[in-house]
Amino acid sequence: MAKDYYETLGVGRDASADEIKSAYRKLAKKYHPDLNKGDEGAAQKFKEVNEAYQVLSDDQKRRQYDTFGTADGNAGGFGGQGGFGGFEGFGGFGDIFDNIFGGGMRSRPANGPQRGSDIRVNMRLSFEDAAHGIKHDITITRLERCDECSGTGAAKGTERRTCPTCNGTGQERVQQQTMFGSFVNVQPCRTCGGEGTIVDTPCEKCKGKGTIQRQRTIAVNIPAGIDNGQILTMRGEGNAGKRGGPVGDLQIVVSVKPHKLFERLGNDLYLDMSITMMQAALGDEVEVPTLDGKVRYKIDAGTQPGTVFRLKNKGIQYLNSNRVGDLYVRANVQIPKKLNERQKKILREFEDKIRTKDKETSFTKPNDAF
Ligand SMILES: [Zn+2]
Ligand SMILES: [Zn+2]
Repeated sequence: MAKDYYETLGVGRDASADEIKSAYRKLAKKYHPDLNKGDEGAAQKFKEVNEAYQVLSDDQKRRQYDTFGTADGNAGGFGGQGGFGGFEGFGGFGDIFDNIFGGGMRSRPANGPQRGSDIRVNMRLSFEDAAHGIKHDITITRLERCDECSGTGAAKGTERRTCPTCNGTGQERVQQQTMFGSFVNVQPCRTCGGEGTIVDTPCEKCKGKGTIQRQRTIAVNIPAGIDNGQILTMRGEGNAGKRGGPVGDLQIVVSVKPHKLFERLGNDLYLDMSITMMQAALGDEVEVPTLDGKVRYKIDAGTQPGTVFRLKNKGIQYLNSNRVGDLYVRANVQIPKKLNERQKKILREFEDKIRTKDKETSFTKPNDAF
């Protein structure tokens, strides 16, 4: 689930470095494993507090987190708490209930500030670009505040005025006759459309809407290590809010093309390697492909089929970290399927040499079902 590091440390988004440090010290002391022996909950808290501090105490990581809503490869999914901001685009729970119950449960005025909606775009990356990170421009169309009227929708030099129909509440009560009797239904004021204010002379540029549609090209810094399905949140790059509400976010949903060789799992890579039974028996030096080119690797004599070699730090970088995953290479020993008579003869001679006393086939219990 998404993590809010500020919430974890109990500080505001604008907290200073000193405030963050002091909050961290207090919490780290409170949840320290030495003082909470055997307490799983405290241990977990201690871990979370440390993780939050790792990010927020580092200027660069904090900026990254503030921009993308994530500083951690595992955050995935909704890319930090910004990911749920879209909910507010509907105006919060009040509006959802309004839609269902026809306005009876409105908890706050409809004509208060409203956060702009989020914009979601998909971005398809090559396997290598996702691993190494890349700068990518994307062009989006979004609603921006009209600069001519500063978002009011009223022509320059004029102002919005309180709606005379609803007296600024934005709501209208309508008596409804139904077969169950008569009901008073509260609905958005038809004069002002629920705004609570009206414009006498609409702004010419935005036709009174207060926002204009604009095409923008935005430079996106895809951090190295991003994985399929992760979402980058760029705060404040979405649609303009209403009535002074904040701007929504731009969310970039990343999909990564599969690689023709490597299988990725988290930050580790997996690769199958076919070797001959002679290479397995005698040992050899081979060239193993990695994302950064080929590396030489020594196969030991007597390597068994299915042996997995680990090439440290040849995997994929962790998001916002210097840590790098590993590359696992599985040795598949190829048994020759076609042998000519001469080859068969050599193998039989070899067989006679190694099977001196025990010519029986032996069996053992397997480690796993297969
Ligand atoms: Zn009205
Ligand atoms: Zn305007």
